[in-house]
Amino acid sequence: MRLDVVSIFPDYLRPLDLSLPGRAQRNGLLDVRVHDLRDWTGDRHRTVDDTPYGGGAGMVMKPEPWGAALDELLAAPGAAQRPTLVVPTPSGRPFTQAVAAELATREHLVLACGRYEGIDQRVVDEAAGRMEVREVSIGDYVLNGGEVAVLAVVEAVVRLLPGFMGNAESLTEESHAAGLLEYPVYTKPASWRGHEVPEVLLSGDHARIAAWRHEQSVARTAERRPDLLHPARVVATGTELRLA
Ligand code: SAM
Repeated sequence: MRLDVVSIFPDYLRPLDLSLPGRAQRNGLLDVRVHDLRDWTGDRHRTVDDTPYGGGAGMVMKPEPWGAALDELLAAPGAAQRPTLVVPTPSGRPFTQAVAAELATREHLVLACGRYEGIDQRVVDEAAGRMEVREVSIGDYVLNGGEVAVLAVVEAVVRLLPGFMGNAESLTEESHAAGLLEYPVYTKPASWRGHEVPEVLLSGDHARIAAWRHEQSVARTAERRPDLLHPARVVATGTELRLA
């Protein structure tokens, strides 16, 4: 998989050379390139932002540097014919494990790190005419910039690349794989500071262990994320939203 990340703070993306993405690069599964958006500016001050039309606080990222960056990245040797542009934004659709799994099937992702009040909407609108675009939110809170969101997205996607995880089974058992949170996990010693590992896990009875783990998963999900057990299915009909 090829990843092009565009940011005004390329140093922020250094962790991509460490940990999971770093290992995937060394294994040849991943080709990561980080670019400075300011390389596509044309003025002496390398300006990437301007005041918002309509007024209001803050600055907005100008469309021209982004347009030029995407033109060049799409024409670069090794670029996919139709890459996927990932734009982290708190107003995006939730970035979930299912979205990560979808993105893991793509050949080439371009990730655009916004700053200030975000990127001029026309960048996304124009890009949608020539590539798949995914505007994603990593949670209901506001970060200062897209770099941390991109690191989260990349890590979630890379660990799903075929051939990446030593033990692919660990992917099928973890939280969100089956729409449930993972059961609690334990390792040695069996007794620690007066806290015991549940007896069933020491029993060697695989059927009992599987049943206990499922029960724990359901109980934990019900307590912490009831929305996962009973998702309110919102159906969009024209401009109207209703519960199914
Ligand atoms: N004005 C924007 C709004 O209210 O939706 C917030 C912009 S935020 C200060 C600057 C950048 O941080 C965004 O363009 C995006 O790249 C990133 N960002 C912030 N929160 C995010 C989130 N929850 N998920 C993904 N990206 C986020």
